[in-house]
Amino acid sequence: METTTLGGHSISRIGLGTWAMGGMEWGAVSESDAIHTLLAAIDHGINFIDTAPIYGHGRSEELLGKAIRQHGRREDFYLATKAGLDWGEDAPTTSGQRRAAIVANLSPARLLAELEHSLRRLDTDYIDLYQVHWPDPTVDVAETAEILLGFQRAGKVRTLGVSNFTVPQMERFRAIAPLASNQPPYNLFERAIDAEILPWCAQNHVAVICYSSLCRSLLGGRLRPETGFDDIRRFDPKFQPPRFAQYLDAVRRLDALARERFGKTVAELAVRWVLDRPGIRVALWGAKSPQQLQTALGVLHWHLDAQAMADIDAIVEQCVTDPVGPDYLTPGTRDA
Ligand code: NAP
Repeated sequence: METTTLGGHSISRIGLGTWAMGGMEWGAVSESDAIHTLLAAIDHGINFIDTAPIYGHGRSEELLGKAIRQHGRREDFYLATKAGLDWGEDAPTTSGQRRAAIVANLSPARLLAELEHSLRRLDTDYIDLYQVHWPDPTVDVAETAEILLGFQRAGKVRTLGVSNFTVPQMERFRAIAPLASNQPPYNLFERAIDAEILPWCAQNHVAVICYSSLCRSLLGGRLRPETGFDDIRRFDPKFQPPRFAQYLDAVRRLDALARERFGKTVAELAVRWVLDRPGIRVALWGAKSPQQLQTALGVLHWHLDAQAMADIDAIVEQCVTDPVGPDYLTPGTRDA
């Protein structure tokens, strides 16, 4: 495994993302598949495991707690969880309705309660990386940073991070508490952080942990024009016409480039691309089964050269004439 450090701890550069294991927005994932995937990650040297209370409304964290018990050594896992998304007590559970029901909630009461729930579900007395999941426009970032600093001083969380934060929001957080990481979306098709966030993080030694490295399955290479979806992809604008065909065309050409030049698949190329971008510390891989995770090993110990980077850019630019970002993931605001 390729490794790096975060908060003085050695971590894998590929992290396992456990959103899909929650089993709601991405369809059912059996407990057995989820636990085997988590244990396979540790076997492969992938110790960075990303989760959140919102993933399956606690299920993802609970499964992770079970996997740790089954494995037996808590210290083999680097646990990154999050706080601050409220799904409401009686929020409906079908994909489209649920998204609308999710709101950012960084009220102090919510944060205090969420930390205790996460520790219980994960069956641990500390969290390695505690991340603010999304900014809440109704709460001052400084107030949130103050509360997380208290968690760190109490020894309940080791390192503090944020996710989906802008540069001014990170600056405000950092004025109050040490900020180790930011978790934004980043992949071949979604590069908004190139403009400000990546350079700022590099300059300020804030680790960038990327989510959606496979662009939520588009870059996995398995999708066809006729593929239908009964999960969150029904609401992702990239998976709707006319854009879907444009993205699939790019994936087909990227796959050919990967195979001809490197003997790799487009999935391996896509995650290698993320890891080879300057300033990226970790790429998250959203695997639902040990087989899907096995592919991650093909990403290791080779690199993209400047010519390949340029050719990839040209393919994306030529094929995707109507690009769209991941903005549909943005949660609602409490007072909206
Ligand atoms: P992703 O990693 O870009 O894509 C995951 C999807 O890729 C899977 O559902 C699967 O699709 C497909 N896939 C996985 N392995 C594959 C393989 N070997 N070959 C072909 N296809 C493969 O998606 P993501 O879930 O958006 O991101 C990963 C993680 O980032 C999440 O689990 C979560 O931990 C984190 N995340 C964080 C935020 C945030 O706001 N901080 C937001 C989103 C995600 P199928 O379902 O078709 O099998």
